Amino acid sequence: MKYLSTRGHTDRKRFCEILLEGLAPDGGLYMPESYPQVSDATLTRWRDVYHRQGYAELAFEILSLYIDDIPAADLRALCEKTYTAAVYGTGEIVPLRHVEDGLWIEALSNGPTLAFKDMAMQLLGNLFEYELARRGEELNILGATSGDTGSAAEYAMRGKKGVRVFMTSPFGRMSPFQQAQMFSLMDANIYNIAVKGVFDDCQDMVKAVSNDLEFKRKYKIGTVNSINWARLLAQVVYYFAGYIQATESNAQKVSFSVPSGNFGNVCAGHVARMMGLPIEKLVVATNENDVLDEFFRTGVYRVRGTADTHETSSPSMDISKASNFERFVFDLLGRDGDRVKALFGDALNTAGRFDLSADPAFAQAASRYGFVSGKSTHAHRLETIRDTWKRHEIMIDTHTADGLKVALEHRTPGVPMIVLETALPIKFAATIVEALGREPERPAKFEGIEALPKRVIVMEADVAAIKALIARECAY
Ligand SMILES: *Cc1c(COP(=O)(O)O)cnc(C)c1O
Repeated sequence: MKYLSTRGHTDRKRFCEILLEGLAPDGGLYMPESYPQVSDATLTRWRDVYHRQGYAELAFEILSLYIDDIPAADLRALCEKTYTAAVYGTGEIVPLRHVEDGLWIEALSNGPTLAFKDMAMQLLGNLFEYELARRGEELNILGATSGDTGSAAEYAMRGKKGVRVFMTSPFGRMSPFQQAQMFSLMDANIYNIAVKGVFDDCQDMVKAVSNDLEFKRKYKIGTVNSINWARLLAQVVYYFAGYIQATESNAQKVSFSVPSGNFGNVCAGHVARMMGLPIEKLVVATNENDVLDEFFRTGVYRVRGTADTHETSSPSMDISKASNFERFVFDLLGRDGDRVKALFGDALNTAGRFDLSADPAFAQAASRYGFVSGKSTHAHRLETIRDTWKRHEIMIDTHTADGLKVALEHRTPGVPMIVLETALPIKFAATIVEALGREPERPAKFEGIEALPKRVIVMEADVAAIKALIARECAY
């Protein structure tokens, strides 16, 4: 399998070459040259693989179709090391929870940081360690976080050989639970940096360091953001696992509803569907930051400015643009790299928007690719959390509530709807208390974490200071 850029660059790369890279040289995103097709016989065999051998083996089967530069035995070992009952608390790894007739919630949030990002990031940690050792190289991951991504990255990379994580976050602005989760890590290769400023200051520092190409090369600076193809690929697996659990035969279709921000999660659903998984609809659920809902309703993709980007009670979906969306548009436009470049490279940079409403391809987003969408607000979130608790005694988090609210608008009789649960309620306790008047349950391993000793470096929003820190730590 070779990978190409969505913007038409002629390079073709293999999996391990793009694993540690970000964007393609032309600014595009990497995509597989083609989607391996899963036959009816293979899907039947995979049912058996999942039920008898488990999630890790299913992951190995799917990843093998896209990764041919890691020996099979090594890849299998990496999957087995990643997806264990010890880490995810259940042998099924992503169990389906029955809500009512034809409606399920797929639990993706039982990993170390209680959000679905663990599903991909845990694998990425093991892949990075493997590939860096093979090359005899080191990597310094530099990032900015306001919550979920940073903690998932730290828990994936802690103790990994050849990797250091420098994670900036706005001082005092994360929830006490999120701070405790990250700052209580004592691993020598994890550096929490609390910046006296807001999230944008953190992001600006990261950009400034990355734009210093000499520094970046000398200190092997890298990232783990959501455009990484390996992260997306890891997420494809749980669409298959969800389908297998919800159906008994391959003649059945299902739909998935996905709480969406950067379009990484639902793009993995698109990949699964392109491989032949019988998915009827892919429901894109947004919060008040409705960039994606607007596109799927109108054909207009309009990036929002900072002033137009809302801080909501489903904060992990607060985006101004959806960084993985370019991947789907690439497929939608018949993989025309020149057009994608004109839209994402030029139109977005100059006008901040593009309009496909008059293009015949736009109608195919729904008719051919199964995409539908909807939007949920704070009031909907509260109502959905309350209703789900009252009627089913199931407590859901704010992001999953957005997914469920929009899912209910797109059900087809006879087609099971699977809502992806992207975080546990304990991570967003304040809104749960607002909705239900009670605290969410806390998994035993997180009992009392706020009282643990903290390891954090507090610093001004000063690029020279963070560079000095990285240089000093790399000298050891
Ligand atoms: C990251 C995140 C999302 C959004 O996922 P994308 O892949 O960016 O669309 C939704 N919910 C939670 C809890 C998240 O952490």
